[in-house]
Amino acid sequence: MSKNSRMTLLEWLDACPTPFHVAAQASSELTSAGFTSVTQLGYEIPQTGFLAVDGSIVAWRLGSSSSSLRIIGAHSDSPNLRVLPNADIYQHGWSQLAVEMYGGLLLNSWLDRDLGIAGRVIDANGKVHLFSDSTALARIPQLAIHLDRDVNEKGVQLDKHQHMTPVWGSETQKFSEWLTKNSGVDHIAAYDAHLFDITPAALLGHDKSLLASGRLDDQVSCWSAINALCDSASSEFTTMIVLNDHEEVGSSSSTGAAGPMLSSVIDCISQQHGLSTGQHFDRIASSWCLSADNAHAIHPNYPERHEPRHAPHINEGPAVKVNANQRYATSTRGLAHIQNVAKSKDIPLQVFASRNNIPCGSTIGPITATQLGIETIDVGVPQLSMHSAREMCGAHDPSYLVELMKAFLQS
Ligand code: ZN
Repeated sequence: MSKNSRMTLLEWLDACPTPFHVAAQASSELTSAGFTSVTQLGYEIPQTGFLAVDGSIVAWRLGSSSSSLRIIGAHSDSPNLRVLPNADIYQHGWSQLAVEMYGGLLLNSWLDRDLGIAGRVIDANGKVHLFSDSTALARIPQLAIHLDRDVNEKGVQLDKHQHMTPVWGSETQKFSEWLTKNSGVDHIAAYDAHLFDITPAALLGHDKSLLASGRLDDQVSCWSAINALCDSASSEFTTMIVLNDHEEVGSSSSTGAAGPMLSSVIDCISQQHGLSTGQHFDRIASSWCLSADNAHAIHPNYPERHEPRHAPHINEGPAVKVNANQRYATSTRGLAHIQNVAKSKDIPLQVFASRNNIPCGSTIGPITATQLGIETIDVGVPQLSMHSAREMCGAHDPSYLVELMKAFLQS
């Protein structure tokens, strides 16, 4: 399959409302590009292959047995609302869904949006089936201003448990029965059901230079990593990507960046290459990891929230993220390496650092670096409205990120 048959970023964002859909979409594009799916690591590892587990995936293209590693990481999850196992609420003439908050949501951004439901069901035999319904199914209604007179002065006050419960009809409806009908699976043993804004991803602005969608953090990086790996020729390096679930809740899970998924694959590759323990550690010491997660672009209405000399502009390329307190993993050597890589291909690159009085978030970079001992560089496309139900970035920056990733995999 040619690269033209791969999804555009807009198509990808609409096709991937959950981490499970990210892993499935990545699997499908890797398969089309000739990568072989493996379900177990106990046998010979194919030259180009991938291992997908739940909402996470690791893919690789093996280099020579003495090659060092070039790894790109990103995360497949985004903050959202998830339907609880005992979902049904019926009160005051409203049919509602019991939900749990996932990650650091901007709560107000979820109000008064038409929401769809997507995820996976597991049947009586343990088989997994993905589902997605992008029709208007649910909504979290904001309180009218007449019943909340000083809301514009005091700001929207939302209790996570009381005020974020979506309505999804006026007649009683068991969620499990709706799911059975909608997923086409008769005997559902358990499910993951995530709410998402059904508004399609869109180019925005008089010049269409902006891109608005849910889940830009961090599916811009997931999409870019897949394109970079699929498009890059084999090189002297063993090139890999990892898309991890559970970053938004700290990465500690079997498929999160703090779990063993990536290191298990790396160990198996070293074993297949016949490396001794010492040679394996030499490989680790000469390898690089590029951890891609979006950065905060300077906000025109809040410029004072940025360190003025390290405030990324949209459409001026990805930002390398530095933080002496190791909230980002980029070392001085890493900063030099990625700047050299970008310069060699004329790819614009910026530097992000947060203000000392507004600590930055973190990402998979420091966790992956700690787990593997591989020197890691944190980069990301600058965006606004991070963790909103609908985020925004520059329309030109994702392709700069793809170019940077491709150059990184060869350098
Ligand atoms: Zn992120």
